[in-house]
Amino acid sequence: MLNLYDTAVGTVRPLTLRDEGKVSMYVCGPTVYDLPHLGHGRFTLVFDVLRRYLIYSGLEVTYVSNITDIDDNIIGRAHREDRTEGEVAAEYEERWWEAMDLLEVLRPDMTPHATAFVDGMIATIAELLERGTAYQLPDGVYLDVSKVDGYGLLAGQPLESLRAGARVDAEVEKRSPLDFALWKAAKPDEPAWAAPFGAGRPGWHTECVVMSLSLLGDGFDLHGGGLDLKFPHHENERAQAVALGRPFAQHWAHNGWVMVEGEKMSKSLGNFTSLTDLLAKADPRAYRLLVLRSHYRAPIEVTAETIADAERGLDRLDALARRLELTSPPGPVIGTTDSDIETAAVERFVALMDDDLQTPQALGLVFELVGEANTALDDGDESRARRLGATVIRLAGAMGLTFDGAAAELDAATLALARARDEARAAKDFAAADALRDQLQAAGWVVEDTPSGTALHR
Ligand SMILES: [Zn+2]
Repeated sequence: MLNLYDTAVGTVRPLTLRDEGKVSMYVCGPTVYDLPHLGHGRFTLVFDVLRRYLIYSGLEVTYVSNITDIDDNIIGRAHREDRTEGEVAAEYEERWWEAMDLLEVLRPDMTPHATAFVDGMIATIAELLERGTAYQLPDGVYLDVSKVDGYGLLAGQPLESLRAGARVDAEVEKRSPLDFALWKAAKPDEPAWAAPFGAGRPGWHTECVVMSLSLLGDGFDLHGGGLDLKFPHHENERAQAVALGRPFAQHWAHNGWVMVEGEKMSKSLGNFTSLTDLLAKADPRAYRLLVLRSHYRAPIEVTAETIADAERGLDRLDALARRLELTSPPGPVIGTTDSDIETAAVERFVALMDDDLQTPQALGLVFELVGEANTALDDGDESRARRLGATVIRLAGAMGLTFDGAAAELDAATLALARARDEARAAKDFAAADALRDQLQAAGWVVEDTPSGTALHR
């Protein structure tokens, strides 16, 4: 049973499920107006690891993550570049999925686009107006947060102290600076939808509450996102559900910040200009390894150095995968207690992951097994090495780390050199074996000794 920190109550507690054996989760997705940044990479990896672990645990997961395809930034870019909002959103959504595929983040089961749910948003806003929790101003419709029980739950502060700290926008006649726009009245040259309370477009907080409740139903299990979304975005989503009298997410999870040289960031400044840039310069699996090395609620540093260090970790895993010619199976890993894996290690792994996803220790366990497998190979105990290797592939795979240790396709001449080297070694003619190794290395091959002889890779 997974125990997970719940931001709403501030403690680690069991993830309880509305429907036995099934998990319904909603994770806030991107607004598609620019290349994805490093913070996007982290939250998608964190929730991918959580999702994969739930699948590993035998649960049926429904994972919903939205695309916000209309907002001020999209409109701004469309105007600057003399394109339509739809063209801008389509371009950056494509960039988004390219990055997600490189990161091996599983695609969501459902990807609602905000513009496809505007009817539901209009109906929700009309109901909030009817209930008297929302009010209309010339520039839009606002929610009166003073009418929402428990506003401030996710912020961890009561309404009064939030109000004392809120920035007052002198240009808007809101009843309270904390009140937020459900609907933004139409402006010239902006996309707008007709509504009984005047043409306009939905506010961001309204999108997510409508899409999550529409697709996952009342009282769905888990709502997640980056820490920067906890307040006000998630607070305001929840406020609308409370005002509607509908049970909302039963558990809230947030991942920590991405830092670049000690500075909190939501847009990258330093070593990598975007997630796309990082993925072009480094092994995409390195970012996943880096994310796993820290607890998901702790901040992480993403710099050229920390990524290079993660790549060195990957090298150790890859070297074992090649030595044993291990390749990850396609798709998410489902936990079993096969006799061909190390049961005690699997039990340790599950205990660590069930304790609020202690991935640094779980990853440490995987590296421990890598060391033991290499020792077993060096000692000539191939069956033990294979068993350990199978466990490594299984547990790393449960966290989404994949390997391809299949032998490279070799041309006949290269293969002949490798066979000649094996024969020389069998005949204990080490001078000849070394000369053949040098010849292979000069041709660009990395030469490794495996139980089945010389292995070559680029
Ligand atoms: Zn959201």
